[in-house]
Amino acid sequence: MDIQEKKRQESFMRRESMRVELESYSHNEQLARVIVAAYMTRLNPTVEETEDVKTAVSEAVTNAIIHGYKESGETLVLKVSSFQDELQVEVEDHGVGIPDVEQARQPLFTTSTEGERSGMGFTFMETFMDQVEVRSAPGRGTLVVMTKKIGA
Ligand code: ATP
Ligand code: MG
Repeated sequence: MDIQEKKRQESFMRRESMRVELESYSHNEQLARVIVAAYMTRLNPTVEETEDVKTAVSEAVTNAIIHGYKESGETLVLKVSSFQDELQVEVEDHGVGIPDVEQARQPLFTTSTEGERSGMGFTFMETFMDQVEVRSAPGRGTLVVMTKKIGA
């Protein structure tokens, strides 16, 4: 086993995590924010860091509810984990998926036609977190993985 692999395994073993299933109703967006904020207290975040993470979580969960599931009340998965000072949040839905992720991530891009969305969700996630990874396939769903070092 090389050093990289050993490190990877160690980090996996010491990673603490929690996984919550939420019905995709809009009131659960607030719950998701509070769950993540409560989890991350162990990393001694500043008020600003907590607010940043809550904003990013809120955008990802809202997207899963509104776009992924079209507000049909299916289950989305929220996973929160940490290793040392790094927080990772995953939001997963098994909804409609995104045909072109690169395009969807562009500032101001939205598929909403009624003018009530600004197309800034992914941009906010990228602004407030260190890294945002999006995996998606039409008809399969979407996984957003966001990481942020706390106290960096
Ligand atoms: P805003 O977030 O500013 O209210 P928005 O949701 O349209 O507007 P983004 O959050 O940046 O903007 O998302 C861009 C587009 O990506 C959405 O309009 C939608 O088409 C697509 N999208 C984002 N998340 C998902 C998802 N979980 N499932 C399906 N499509 C998604
Ligand atoms: Mg959005």
